[in-house]
Parts: sequence; C-alpha cells; structure tokens
Amino acid sequence: MTLLSRTPPHERSGGAGRTDIMSAEARSRLMARIGGRNTKPEVILRKALFRLGFRYRLHPRDIPGRPDMVFPRWRAVVFVHGCFWHGHDCHLFKWPKGNAVFWRAKISGNVERDRRTLDALTAQGWRVLTVWECALRGRGRLPVESIAQTVSNWLMAGDPSRDIPR
Ligand code: ZN
Repeated sequence: MTLLSRTPPHERSGGAGRTDIMSAEARSRLMARIGGRNTKPEVILRKALFRLGFRYRLHPRDIPGRPDMVFPRWRAVVFVHGCFWHGHDCHLFKWPKGNAVFWRAKISGNVERDRRTLDALTAQGWRVLTVWECALRGRGRLPVESIAQTVSNWLMAGDPSRDIPR
C-alpha cells in the first residue's frame, strides 16, 4: 500500500466526507467525467510500462511491502509513493496544522516502515525503484512517458535501487 490515493489532510476540501453523501449514481457520473481511477498517476505510469512491453504483478502479498509493481523477470519492484504519507522532503509535503504529535508519529512510522521494507527486499535480492508523487504531479512533474522510459532503462540495465526524482 502506497497511500497515494489518500488525500493528505491539508488538501481535503471542507465538508468532511462530502462525496459520501452523494448517491452512487451521482458519484459514478462524477467519476466518469473526471476519468475516475484511471487518471491516477500510478495507473497512468503502469499503463505506459505495459505499452513498452513490460509485464508485472500488482501488490503481491508474498513480496515485502506489497509493491505497486513487481517485475519478476528483472528481479525488481516499483513503488509509487505519495509524498505526504511517506514523508518526502519536497514541495508536496507539508505538516498538517494541529495534532503535531499524532502526525509526527504517523509519518515517521511510515518512513521507518519504508526503510524496513527496503532492507527486506534488498536482503531477498530485489532491486527497488521508488517513484515519488512529485515526479508525476505538481509543478515539478515530468511527462509520464519520460518517467516510463527511465523506469524501463533502470529495469533492463540491472541498476541498483534508486528514487525518481533522485
Ligand atoms: Zn515528493
């Protein structure tokens, strides 16, 4: 689980649970209009890699951290990490106002878990590529085809674990 689909608290609009009071029909109309799930950066990247000919497993339970994409042939995994939930040092990360103790514990717990996951994967011989949300969204974003090409090069070159952006 990479928590990319969950909205950080400081980006939530007012009226908690607003979509929850929409009828299922209204929500499905809205989702269709905005492209629904398929516009999520993670899915767009996944599809770009598929078009390049890569095949992968999604969130397999038997791999530490249940990576977003696992490429058995390349002994490699890819995570797409939300910058807020995974505590990325970038412009998309901002500490929420209030509940400072809670949020410090929550985010640092996630960061610590990511570190343990990386260690476990590395120990099993997996290479790990982490694509951060800020590479796919916001003012620093790159074209998804360009990111897919970088991932493709990384997979086939057998390069060591790395992040995008670095
Ligand atoms: Zn970031």
